[in-house]
Amino acid sequence: MAIQLVNSITELKTASASLLAAKGAGSLGLVPTMGALHAGHAQLVRSAAAENDVVVASIFVNPMQFGDAEDLQRYPRSLQADLALLETGGADLAFAPAVEEMYPLGEPMVRISAGKLGDKLEGAARPGHFDGALTVVAKLLHMCLPAGDYDRPTGYRAYFGQKDAQQLTLVRRMAADLNFPVQIAAVPTVRAADGLALSSRNRFLSADEREAAAVLSRALRLLKDRADRNEPLDPESAVDLLNSQPLVDLDYLEVVDPLTLESRAENCRETPFTGEALALVAARVGPVRLIDNAPLGY
Ligand code: AMP
Repeated sequence: MAIQLVNSITELKTASASLLAAKGAGSLGLVPTMGALHAGHAQLVRSAAAENDVVVASIFVNPMQFGDAEDLQRYPRSLQADLALLETGGADLAFAPAVEEMYPLGEPMVRISAGKLGDKLEGAARPGHFDGALTVVAKLLHMCLPAGDYDRPTGYRAYFGQKDAQQLTLVRRMAADLNFPVQIAAVPTVRAADGLALSSRNRFLSADEREAAAVLSRALRLLKDRADRNEPLDPESAVDLLNSQPLVDLDYLEVVDPLTLESRAENCRETPFTGEALALVAARVGPVRLIDNAPLGY
């Protein structure tokens, strides 16, 4: 079925209610995105379509989560291609609101605070980023909440990429801490053939930078292989590998607890790796800040 495009919250609610009614009030899967879609987003949509009767994808470049006006202004926008990708993936409805539709009263005075999980790692480099991201995710989750009825309960799931691991941890924590009536589903990172995690910002890399950027996933692979063999992780050797690439300006490589994001680096330097952890990396490559991660031990 052809995808429907809606721009207002009223149209969104009417269209999703009639799609759900046509399915006998089944489940709804939401895929929040900022557009400029690629195969990573397509994987989220396919997962949502496999598990739900109706799939809604949102396309909204959220000014609140950009600290840097230039980054916001140059963020790629490609609505027609996005709609084609969403339709192929199995989405029923695309919600692409204007900024005024999302923030009719201007910047929200009351907002979600990501708390101390939002101050570290990406949050340290991008102050306020996670408050802005969680605020828009909270709004989207509320706008898309399917109106179930007591006889025919409605499932509600929202899909996020493992690629943005800190965001995923925070969204899960927000849903748990604030009792959002939605199940948060994680989708593994989709990568290019050389291992680079797909990202809407990769298009800004020159050919040399694009080649150099593959070192991020190679460094993570090194740690993952050691974790799989229960060897000491020796994160310093992964840092050395990253620093050996002159076009890559490393910000951090951290091994953290996946739930608290507290560092685990000390206890996995020389002792054999056990349990579960997340290896997180961030680096500037040319004009772009790249992030990637590898779940270790799971
Ligand atoms: P964005 O449009 O970049 O805000 O991303 C929208 C959603 O797609 C987020 O949940 C991201 O984590 C997810 N995503 C982005 N890139 C990838 C990727 N390479 N693999 C899987 N999910 C991704």
